[in-house]
Amino acid sequence: MNEDQAHRALREELGVYALGAGSPDERAVVRAHLEGCAACRAELAELAPIAARLADADPDRLDEDPAPPPGLADAVLARIAAEGALPRADPAGRRRRTRLAAGSLVLATAAAAFAVGWLVRPVPPPPPLESVAVEVTDPDITATADVVPHTWGVEVKLAGAGFTSGEVYRVTVLEDDGDAAPAGAFLGTGPAELFCNLNSPVLRGDAEGFQVVDASGAVVLRSTF
Ligand SMILES: [Zn+2]
Repeated sequence: MNEDQAHRALREELGVYALGAGSPDERAVVRAHLEGCAACRAELAELAPIAARLADADPDRLDEDPAPPPGLADAVLARIAAEGALPRADPAGRRRRTRLAAGSLVLATAAAAFAVGWLVRPVPPPPPLESVAVEVTDPDITATADVVPHTWGVEVKLAGAGFTSGEVYRVTVLEDDGDAAPAGAFLGTGPAELFCNLNSPVLRGDAEGFQVVDASGAVVLRSTF
């Protein structure tokens, strides 16, 4: 493959690379090419902010807005992964690879067009986030939380790790009159970090805090607003 062919082949991989996808070997090939190709570096610089916005988009914040069809990104990436897994030396495989490459290019183009439409749609201002203090009573757990004052009640956005894998944790929002309202439940994911949005029917002005109890009913985390 000469320089120009390598350049054309690599340009098609830049989107995948910008999204942080691709095998370590494929990423190394792209990196090696980028070192010697200013045109590809410039193209990657243009793709990077779009990829970052896609990665940062919080689907939970977009409930009332059009969202990409579920599984679209997975379908595109699976197609690209399947293409990468084909034996490259076999001529029949190479023909199939070419067809698949064309197919994945169509899919990737459709996904990109959708993503661009999705990104440029009018976005309402994000609701204000209020960071709240969190106290854990289980030393294995680390967590932070923000609350969002909606018109229908307060939402708790919980980020944490160390909740026992597979165990059900229940969240209640505590009201200033001493009542407690259920705000949902989640499954622990062990050392993997979890991000959980928990909705309660208690207005922010009536909410004094929230707590998380484990399957045995013990409070493992509490927060006072
Ligand atoms: Zn290049």
